[in-house]
Amino acid sequence: MAWQLQESNGIKYCRSKMLAAFPWLQQGFSTRCSASAALEDPQAAQEYRRRFFDIFQLTPEQTQLAKQVHGDTVLLVEELQPGDELPEADAMITNRPGVGLATIHADCVPVVLVDPVHRVIAAVHAGWKGTLAGIVRKTVARMETEYGSVPEECFAAIGPAIGSCCYRVPPERIALFTEKWPEFDFGPSQQESTLDLALINQKFLENCGYVPEQIDNARLCTACHHTEFYSFRREQATGRMLSLVVMK
Ligand SMILES: [Zn+2]
Repeated sequence: MAWQLQESNGIKYCRSKMLAAFPWLQQGFSTRCSASAALEDPQAAQEYRRRFFDIFQLTPEQTQLAKQVHGDTVLLVEELQPGDELPEADAMITNRPGVGLATIHADCVPVVLVDPVHRVIAAVHAGWKGTLAGIVRKTVARMETEYGSVPEECFAAIGPAIGSCCYRVPPERIALFTEKWPEFDFGPSQQESTLDLALINQKFLENCGYVPEQIDNARLCTACHHTEFYSFRREQATGRMLSLVVMK
């Protein structure tokens, strides 16, 4: 599987080819090309966000965002009350058509989970802290308990994120993963001084019961592909990309 570049509303974005096969689902990850002009200007950033949501027939009011804190809180959108403040969470789940889930990224791994049987979707923001905390596993577990989702029946798309090619970390950080998950086979995701966060999340999903053929890992490094994506690692002060998923 692979991800492909699209253009709509004058905005370039990419999406998982695998998820594009579901006619009742829309999913996309924005790029930098379209938003670079919006960087400096909050009003332009708002307008850009509105236009991006509009590609998916969503208004900002129909799109759930969260205050991302690199934690492991999984939010059930159905539990929110109208007028609630922006909740602190790095993962969101909904079974409601017409409710967009949006997470914000510049290197951290965007993961979208889809249960086509019970019609449930989830959006996850997994930086190294959230990945280490197992946020993607918690999201899978919550989909199971709340909606009866069966991992073997679900699909996952892992979007552009900082690749191991560009993600050098101190050995202590790699040790955190091996200490927290001693029994776990992360495959080649940990080298001497680099981490492949997208692959670690993929391995977590497989360990939860996701079928490898039903995981579409973009394997696109945000720092290597800097003409398409923002990278916090590469640029520090930089823009952000939006990951969005919605059921029609
Ligand atoms: Zn790279």
